[in-house]
Amino acid sequence: MHALVIGGGVAGPATAVALRAIGVEVTICEARPAEDKDVGLWVMVAPNGLAALEALDLKEAVLRESLTGAVGPSGFAPIRRVGLYRVLREAAVARGARIAHDRRLVAADTAPGGGVVARFSDGTALEGDLLVGCDGIHSRTRSVIDPAAPDTRYVPLLNLGGFTSGVDAPGEPAQLQFVRGRKGFFGYAASGRGEVWWFANLPWGAEPTRAELAEMDRTVLTERLLDTFAEAPPYVADLIRGTYTDLYALPTHDLPTVPTWWRGDMVILGDAAHATTPTSGQGSSMALEDAVVLAKCLRDLPRAQAPARYEQLRRERVEGIVALGARASAAKLNDALPDNSLDWVLDYRIDWAARV
Ligand SMILES: Cc1cc2nc3c(=O)[nH]c(=O)nc-3n(C[C@H](O)[C@H](O)[C@H](O)COP(=O)(O)OP(=O)(O)OC[C@H]3O[C@@H](n4cnc5c(N)ncnc54)[C@H](O)[C@@H]3O)c2cc1C
Repeated sequence: MHALVIGGGVAGPATAVALRAIGVEVTICEARPAEDKDVGLWVMVAPNGLAALEALDLKEAVLRESLTGAVGPSGFAPIRRVGLYRVLREAAVARGARIAHDRRLVAADTAPGGGVVARFSDGTALEGDLLVGCDGIHSRTRSVIDPAAPDTRYVPLLNLGGFTSGVDAPGEPAQLQFVRGRKGFFGYAASGRGEVWWFANLPWGAEPTRAELAEMDRTVLTERLLDTFAEAPPYVADLIRGTYTDLYALPTHDLPTVPTWWRGDMVILGDAAHATTPTSGQGSSMALEDAVVLAKCLRDLPRAQAPARYEQLRRERVEGIVALGARASAAKLNDALPDNSLDWVLDYRIDWAARV
């Protein structure tokens, strides 16, 4: 079997590794170039996500790339998104997957003798037995599978953040810390050796366009942050001022219910199927879980039955987490701290050896 995996973010390379473990030939088709400097801020990989990585024998490699090289006291690991992508892609290649960059999926259809043909924006096409859409929140595969698929929902929060060094911020290394501001929410994780990664959420009524965001004056945004957190402990202002990277800014979206996850030999997973707001801290971890579960279904069932079983095993959980993320974001808008008692989310474990 040859699988075309669309997207080389979190879900894509993790799926590639999982499929290689069951003997599937894999080509990852990634829209962006190999040398890509613009891949976002940082994420917390949750205990359930780390467990999914462990099932794929990837946990240690990811932890080596994380802020402190180890999990924090609550079992989470902060990691730069660029580092997470790199580790997962390198593992996929080391285990026999191919990666084709500059391949943006634009269309796909059933091949005459079975399987699928994927078509790319550069005019090229590839054939495979299975197409796995891991192309993120604005997935093209989602609308190829179902032209009536819903679009994302804007959540009126702006995500800001950056990387700072040389500021003494309290807290155990790799532990997420929260600070509430005047109509704003600040979070960070410190290495204990002077490196601090931070984010902030500000209420943001109308959704900014991509062009508006690019044009937003970062000095003005920084002033707005400093004003929002003027009554917070002074290290918050030091973290904002001391940022050594560009100030990252992105609107918040989620995707509560996608009615159709698969059609024939095409299936979506990760953010393409169920995107949660960053407030849940679960997007990457859910994508990693999806990869493991889909591979188990393909291992244990005839191919035609695998997508439906994968959906059956995943839908209730991931939609529950998206709903939880939406509630947590609403709490932020109301100046409340999100509820972090999430045992049913964090304690979830997938037994790779057990049959589905
Ligand atoms: C500000 C912010 C903070 C976050 N914090 C956390 C956190 O703390 N913890 C957590 O678990 N999650 C967090 N998330 C969510 C997490 O980043 C996502 O859930 C996760 O990256 C989803 O993985 P994915 O592979 O589905 O999508 P992505 O990581 O977005 O990867 C999709 C890939 O597909 C490629 N692609 C897109 N379209 C095409 C196409 N047509 N053809 C080919 N390739 C294509 C893209 O270039 C990209 O490489 C955060 C998200 C944001 C925005």
